[in-house]
Amino acid sequence: MWRALADMKPVPISPKLVDGGEKSCPSARAEAGALLIGVVGPDGIVRPIPKRFEIDAEFVEQASEAGAPEARFRFASRCVEGKCKQWTGNSCGVIEKVLTGMAEQMIAPAENLPSCAIRGSCRWHSQHGADACRACVYVITDQSMVTAPA
Ligand code: SF4
Repeated sequence: MWRALADMKPVPISPKLVDGGEKSCPSARAEAGALLIGVVGPDGIVRPIPKRFEIDAEFVEQASEAGAPEARFRFASRCVEGKCKQWTGNSCGVIEKVLTGMAEQMIAPAENLPSCAIRGSCRWHSQHGADACRACVYVITDQSMVTAPA
């Protein structure tokens, strides 16, 4: 198993993360140097991790033993804008789809603003403010383990 979260030490910003006015992607892949920002609970709702925890190659390797880490955790890394297929030209299309999907399916936003380690740099928050955060807890990056409703 991977190390207990309590054993993980907060670390300085890695090269994977933002500098200056850059933005963070809050639904990034599990790669050494990324931040662990949430854990998917048994109810499918993400439990945010408000402290900055940088993951390493060992974490990625061990977490991958049980399947895609992005199905069970949320990670943040630098937003690469036009180098990402989700980039629309001037914004991230993921949060737009999430908010539209929630409205269509009448999913209520989270009542409280989740604690978050990257709010100051988050791409989604920069686009939609608190509305993005209240939707964020429903986002699972890799949906391969999500069971379709009957
Ligand atoms: S949308 Fe809000 S809660 Fe989600 S990662 Fe960005 S700042 Fe944090």
